[in-house]
Amino acid sequence: NGRQDHIAHADANASDGGGALSEVVPKKKKVVLLGTGWAGMSFLKNLNNPTYEVEVVSPRNFFVFTPLLPSVTCGKVEARSIAEPIRNIIIKKNVDISFSEAECVKIDPQNKKIYCRATIDSHSKGEEEFAVDYDYLIIAVGAQVNTFNTPGVMENCHFLKEIDDAQKIRKNVIESFEKASLPSLSEEERKKILHFVIVGGGPTGVEFAAELHDFVNEDVVKLYPKVKDLVKITLLEATDHILNMFDKRITNFAENKFGREGIDVKLGSMVTGINENEISTKARGNGKTSSTPYGMVLWSTGIGPRPLIKEFMKQIGQGNRRALATDEWLRVEGFDNIYSLGDCATINQRKVMEDIAEIFKKADKDNSGTLTVKEFQETLDDICERYPQVELYLKNKQKRNIVDLVKEAKGDAAKESMELNIEEFKAALSEVDSQMKNLPATAQVANQQGAYLANCFNRMEECEKNPEGPPRFRGTGHHRFHPFRYRHLGQFAPLGGEQTAAQLPGDWVSIGHSSQWLWYSVYASKQVSWRTRALVVSDWLRRFIFGRDTSG
Ligand code: FAD
Ligand code: MG
Ligand code: MG
Ligand code: MG
Ligand code: MG
Repeated sequence: NGRQDHIAHADANASDGGGALSEVVPKKKKVVLLGTGWAGMSFLKNLNNPTYEVEVVSPRNFFVFTPLLPSVTCGKVEARSIAEPIRNIIIKKNVDISFSEAECVKIDPQNKKIYCRATIDSHSKGEEEFAVDYDYLIIAVGAQVNTFNTPGVMENCHFLKEIDDAQKIRKNVIESFEKASLPSLSEEERKKILHFVIVGGGPTGVEFAAELHDFVNEDVVKLYPKVKDLVKITLLEATDHILNMFDKRITNFAENKFGREGIDVKLGSMVTGINENEISTKARGNGKTSSTPYGMVLWSTGIGPRPLIKEFMKQIGQGNRRALATDEWLRVEGFDNIYSLGDCATINQRKVMEDIAEIFKKADKDNSGTLTVKEFQETLDDICERYPQVELYLKNKQKRNIVDLVKEAKGDAAKESMELNIEEFKAALSEVDSQMKNLPATAQVANQQGAYLANCFNRMEECEKNPEGPPRFRGTGHHRFHPFRYRHLGQFAPLGGEQTAAQLPGDWVSIGHSSQWLWYSVYASKQVSWRTRALVVSDWLRRFIFGRDTSG
């Protein structure tokens, strides 16, 4: 059986240098994985090739189901319910996987080594440092909050990225109501304490505003009747609309709903600084500045690279990028054995126009110097696989097919012949690169990338035996695998009051109570274990029956 087999392998490795035995059993290739978030967890869950030895390094020994973090901030779901210990995931695998609770502080690609610092609280020993060798390195460390260097943000704001953050917010929200209820305060002071400000109208900021509003309406009115009318929620957004990445219908619905509920949505409002008492903003239109007293601020405006990634990008000549650039096989540009995925990485999609001569040559099977419609058609699948923008282009320009493209490129000459020369081929595809878009920094992308990469590692051997594989454009030595392709499954924006907006593929938009039920069932089904699924569902039921727990 697989498990015993690989214990035997490990023993053989241990006797390395002993001569004969170590030559019979090849040494396991060592894969080092940095990070236990969405990308890392998904890689581990999907990896099932026992010929690897995997070492996971992460400062966090658990995975967090981030889409439910906003639910933790006001006590709808307990923090513990959305965390899954990484060792629970590892133990179920038939692959040799170990874990070290530490953060990687430096990557040395020349010597195939990483340097780490243990993050375990070690009062007496000081910091533990160690190095790890790798054959393959997988960088999945995610990103960090971005303050855009706004003064006072680090010192005075809450963030919502980790479980600790959500717990701190929850405690702070409840404490605010207790504090505002103390007898010694003036009305002015109570109002200040109960002014909650959210900076950033993206999905996280909007969901927190909705959670807070629900909390006030459902629980605070009963538990803190004296101060309930002093609560104010302000949402500051620098652009013209909240939920920019969603369909207009969803944006409008959310803005109107918040307006009716008294959540003060200030659009075109840039935060210029925050001190202990006041938050200062500047209006984008007229440049008017103002300062407002606040009790609590949540900063939720986007993400930037971690120091480790910034440093590594500098080292390998990727300069001032916002994320590590990889090719479509998720390999860091210039390295065969380093992969990166999730929020810390971005795929450097190849442009059709850069490779046009090569594409033409491959498609022109009879070397005639021109392409027939048939030749073009026959290579279209390969082109679309390597350059997904072509497929998008054909889809977006509804009902466009190759014949249309050819006719358009040739103009009047199409009457005489439908064959394309290289210039006409260029003209036919001249606009496709405008369809290229970076993938969003979402759990959905990270999750799919982790599964894709695990599958590449699962099939590595099989592919090495058959290195030719299916023919692909610009094989770049990695043509044995299909490039990564993202499948967008849609996204949700919970808006409070048991209403959710859902935007599903094909521009299908649904807003209201039925989408809320869809949200409950999707998020229950996406849980990484039956344990967290049971916990989350029972938290939801508990809240329906007994309301939120407000011990802070
Ligand atoms: P992460 O999940 O952030 O994981 C990074 C991992 O790397 C962590 O384990 C971290 O501890 C570890 N790490 C950090 N530094 C180091 C180091 N130096 N060395 C080793 N390890 C390190 N996406 C959706 O698709 N849908 C949603 O509804 C949604 N809601 C969200 C709500 C909130 C509040 C937040 C914060 C995010 C949400 N996202 C959502 C986005 C989603 O969580 C991220 O896109 C996703 O977590 C990215 O996965 P990742 O593995 O790249 O990074
Ligand atoms: Mg990760
Ligand atoms: Mg995560
Ligand atoms: Mg990314
Ligand atoms: Mg030809």
